Amino acid sequence: MSNTQRFEGKVILITGAASGLGLATAQRLATEGAKLALVDLTPEGLAAAVRSLPAGSETVTVAADVAQLSQVQAYVAQTLQRFGRIDGFFNNAGIEGRQNLTEDFGAEEFHRVISVNLDGVFFGMAEVLKVMRRQGHGAIVNCASVGGIRGVGHQSGYAASKHGVVGLTRNSAVEYGQFGIQINAIAPGAIMTPMVEASLRQMGGEDWESVGKTFVEPNPMRRFGKPEEVAALTAFLLSGEAQFINGTVIEIDGGQSNKY
Ligand code: NAD
Repeated sequence: MSNTQRFEGKVILITGAASGLGLATAQRLATEGAKLALVDLTPEGLAAAVRSLPAGSETVTVAADVAQLSQVQAYVAQTLQRFGRIDGFFNNAGIEGRQNLTEDFGAEEFHRVISVNLDGVFFGMAEVLKVMRRQGHGAIVNCASVGGIRGVGHQSGYAASKHGVVGLTRNSAVEYGQFGIQINAIAPGAIMTPMVEASLRQMGGEDWESVGKTFVEPNPMRRFGKPEEVAALTAFLLSGEAQFINGTVIEIDGGQSNKY
């Protein structure tokens, strides 16, 4: 639990805010005084997210599919209509896709994952950067993955999209630093969220919890990460305390990606 108020008066936009890392980040930032614009696929999911925030939190919710440019433009417009600016953006919504060998992955599934994870992140950055450039300040955290810096296997669409997110982050950071805007990516390892539970169920069915135990054995910390730990990192990067950190990809994986 946070005892700081780094986000007092700041407006933060979060996509994929109804679950997992997006939700944990919304909760963390709300406790630190942020005004929040929350984006996810359904009004119901967003309403539940808002109910989980501290009483009195200032929010606007927008049901939108991040893979559709017009809906991205709409969530940016509605954020501006409600709050007038965007100080920070957690560009987080993403899907894993069905796990499969590359030859069996399938063109349709590949494009589905790319359109959410890569088009969605690009559309979001492009629209939010117009606003931040006008303002002369802003911070963006794109959600990549260790699958965006290492090979994981059985995840062609996910790997391609997350490597793409890393590339977009580095490219735009070089362009926008001069306008007072910092752009970074985070690369979480396995963090226990509904996405990871679904993935373990793909591997182990009803036995997914014991598959999970085996899965984390190679991790130096012998456990899954917690959504609150990712929220704390994202909060730091968006807080204004990290302003000279730009164009980096920060691993948050218990050290696993350093292992031979
Ligand atoms: P999650 O499934 O719990 O939450 C993702 C949220 O994004 C959901 O609420 C979902 O409805 C929303 N979403 C999905 N597609 C969307 C779309 N087209 N438009 C708008 N919203 C959409 O997953 P999570 O684990 O919290 O994942 C969040 C991000 O973190 C993803 O980009 C994921 O790839 C990344 N990530 C997660 C892990 C992990 O271990 N959990 C590891 C590395 C990276």
